[in-house]
Parts: sequence; structure tokens; C-alpha cells
Amino acid sequence: MAWDFETDPEFQKKLDWIEDFMREEVEPLSQLGLAVRGTLGREKFIKPLQEKVKAQGLWACHLGPELGGQGFGQLKLGLMNEKLGRNSLAPTIFGCQAPDTGNAEIIAHYGTDKQKEQYLWPLLNGDIRSAFSMSEPTGGSDPLTFKTRAVLDGNEWVINGEKWFSTNARYSKVLVLYAVTDPDAKDPYRRTSIFLVPTDTPGVEIIRNVGVGSGEIGNGTEGYVRYTDVRVPYDALLGERGAAFVIAQVRLGGGRVHHAMRTVGACKHALDLMCRRAVSRTTRDGKLADLQMVQEQIADSWIAVEQFRLLVLRTAWLIDKHKDYNMVRKDIAAIKVAMPKVYNDVATKAAHLHGALGVSNEMPFMHMVTSSLVMGIADGPTEVHKVTLAKQVLKDYRPDNDLFPNYHIPRLKEAAEEKYAKELTELKEAYRAERAKNAENA
Ligand SMILES: Cc1cc2nc3c(=O)[nH]c(=O)nc-3n(C[C@H](O)[C@H](O)[C@H](O)COP(=O)(O)OP(=O)(O)OC[C@H]3O[C@@H](n4cnc5c(N)ncnc54)[C@H](O)[C@@H]3O)c2cc1C
Repeated sequence: MAWDFETDPEFQKKLDWIEDFMREEVEPLSQLGLAVRGTLGREKFIKPLQEKVKAQGLWACHLGPELGGQGFGQLKLGLMNEKLGRNSLAPTIFGCQAPDTGNAEIIAHYGTDKQKEQYLWPLLNGDIRSAFSMSEPTGGSDPLTFKTRAVLDGNEWVINGEKWFSTNARYSKVLVLYAVTDPDAKDPYRRTSIFLVPTDTPGVEIIRNVGVGSGEIGNGTEGYVRYTDVRVPYDALLGERGAAFVIAQVRLGGGRVHHAMRTVGACKHALDLMCRRAVSRTTRDGKLADLQMVQEQIADSWIAVEQFRLLVLRTAWLIDKHKDYNMVRKDIAAIKVAMPKVYNDVATKAAHLHGALGVSNEMPFMHMVTSSLVMGIADGPTEVHKVTLAKQVLKDYRPDNDLFPNYHIPRLKEAAEEKYAKELTELKEAYRAERAKNAENA
């Protein structure tokens, strides 16, 4: 029976390598901040580390071997991502950073040879970056409300509209755009299509680069993008016309799982820092770790993180088993819902235990708390995923068409008495005989 929690020794060696590499290379580099983010900084600092990752055969591990990945599958990826998740620079160094991973995945799945040549291989190599341009300023949770239009004019599409929070649009070579092409299609889920729009196409304008959390206004990475009479050839279409909804689900399904895997790492990191503080900081009554209310916070956090981790790993295992995100929708929705809650809870407790230092900008906790809020919004808000989860759970249930339900205890008792009628009669007889015998002997 295969139901164990051991990591196979060969893969454990890879995890050990990642652990050392994270500690000795990635984490120190991330302290250089913006110096490593620009083009020259990436060339100087990030490229050499990417080469080391490639040499270890750990580059772009979310991909199958046909795309230059290792074909590890989601479970192994989950264990890897736990380590990468504790530092925001790590996914870039390992070739699995959002939003490029999801964009590459759908180009691999639905792209023509020409589109793959133009975008897929450079993306997988880390030579170019991309943005996913779907959400709109008038509302992102419901794709059926999107207004950006692509109208066919001869052999060209003419695109008009606005998109909001197109992450990394400012650094991107290509925008993966979601637009309405068939507003009158009977099936509302067949009204939109996806396009690959080069970011330097005339008419594409980044109105603002919105930041998350604090920081200078207008210098963030979330592009508010306007498309004004943007003309692209007919074959800028990715996949079939009218297939945007399906393609986006493929993209977002994988993305949500990978976010959750990395969030496990971030949660474990917060808990780790909390414990380090607890055993170090002294009060009149001893170390923080000696105080029961602190112990309770550590125990609760450990349980929450471990429960979340197991749910994520089990979901990864299910994806490997079914090889179909649709069959794991319930589980993916569950981890999407659990993720912001656990992360927020642990990060907040870790900040609190560090006192003033914890809420200062000299510690990572405020960034973690903000990220936890992002996890509840990006890729769809928690409420929407709760509805998906509940619907998936409820679809296996049928109504009881009676005043009292089938599990009403009197009804269950009656059914049991009917089922065991013969045995009950035999039992009664046996007791009667025993009583008669006892009376005789008395
Ligand atoms: C950091 C970050 C990065 C992002 N990156 C991208 C990206 O690269 N590309 C992209 O296209 N988008 C991106 N997004 C946008 C994201 O997908 C949307 O923010 C999300 O879908 C929610 O849309 P909205 O912000 O317009 O909120 P709204 O749709 O206005 O919803 C606001 C709130 O209303 C409530 N609500 C909405 N609908 C329901 C419902 N059906 N039931 C109950 N309550 C509901 C929820 O509380 C929700 O949080 C990103 C967002 C963030 C925060």
C-alpha cells in the first residue's frame, strides 16, 4: 500500500542541495535589494546563479522534459517550492517565477510553432519576460464582466480597453491579453479569446505601475495598461477563438497550486523566525519560549502550517495521479482558500512576538502580512473559491425528500431493527431461556 510520507533518497539529495544553495547564495543575494533587479544587475548576479541551477538539472522544474524541464511532477515540485517560497528572488533563479511560468505553460499548450519560437523558448530560457493581462479596473473577480474588445478588421484584430494589475507589464516583451471577441455568442464562456500582444505594439500604454503595500506611488510592478486601437495580425490569437475561459483556467489552476506550495515555505519561514525569537528574548519571567501564551501561539502555528502543508502536498499528489487540474478543482480551491488565512495568521503572530521590531521595516513580517492579503485576492478572491469548493463538495449529495431526513435517529433505529430482526428474536429467546434456567436453579 503506497501511503507514506518519505522522500526518496535520490530526490532528498536534490532538496539538500537546494537548501544549501538557498542559504549560501540566494538569501544573501536578496539582501542587495534593487541592485539585482535591473537588467545589468540580473546579468551580473542572477544569470550566474541560474547557470548553477541549470547545471544541477533543477531549472524550470514545473515543466515536462519535452519543454526542457525535469518532469518531476507536482509532488516533488511541492517539496522544492517549500524551500524556494521563503525568498521572493528564488523562483526567478530557478526558472519558475510567476507570471512567466503560467504564460509559458499556455503557450506550450496552445501556441503555434511560430508563437513558440517567438515567445516560449526565450521565456523558458529566462531571456524575456511576460505579463498576463486579464483583470480590468472595473472588476477582476468575474471574467464575464470584462469589456476589453478585439474586433476583426480584415486580417487584423483591433484592440481597445483597459487592464489592471498586469504584473510585470513594464518589464514584459509580450502581453498575454484576454479580450472579448464574440459578445453575441450564446455560451457566455465562449465570448472571449486570448492574444499574444508584443508590449511595444503602437497603442499599448502603461498608464501607471501600481505598487503593492507601501512604497513610492507609481513605481510598482502591477501595470495599469491601456490598449487604444492596438492592431495585431489574426494569428496573434492564442488557441481557438472563443477559448479564453478554458485557457485561463488551465493557466490559473497550475498557478494557484504553485503559489500555495511557495506559501508553505513562507509560512514555515515565519514560524522559524518566531521560534528563534521565542528562545532568545528574555523577560522578567524567563525566555518568551517559557511563557504558556507564547507556547500556545507556537503550537497553534505549527499545527496550522503542517495542516496546510499536508493539504498542499496531497493536492500535488492528486494532480500527478489524475494529470488533470479539473479533477482536482475541489482540492485546488481548498488550498487557495486556506493559503491567505494560514499565512496571515502565522505572519501576524511572528510579527507580534517580535514587538516593535516585528512591525518595523527592518523585518520581513509586514511584507509577509501584505503578501498574505494578496494571496486572498490574486487569482480570484477567497469568496469565489469557497463557492467553487462548496459546489464541488455538494455535487455528490442528493436531497432527502421527506419531512425527517434519512439520518433521523428514530428512522435509523427502525431500519436497524428490521435488518437484524432475526438476530434480535434469537437474542430475546436466548435471554428468556437463560432467565428460565436461573429461576429453576434458584
Ligand atoms: C499582487 C497582485 C497581482 C495580480 N496579478 C495579476 C495579473 O498578473 N494579471 C491579471 O489579469 N490580474 C492580476 N491580479 C488581479 C486579480 O486577479 C484581481 O485583483 C482579482 O481577480 C480580484 O479582482 P478585483 O481586484 O477587481 O476585485 P473585485 O472583483 O472588485 O472584488 C473585490 C472584493 O469583492 C468581493 N467579491 C467579489 N466577487 C465576489 C463574489 N462572487 N462573491 C463574494 N464576494 C465577492 C471579494 O471580497 C473581493 O475581494 C493581481 C492582483 C494582485 C493583488
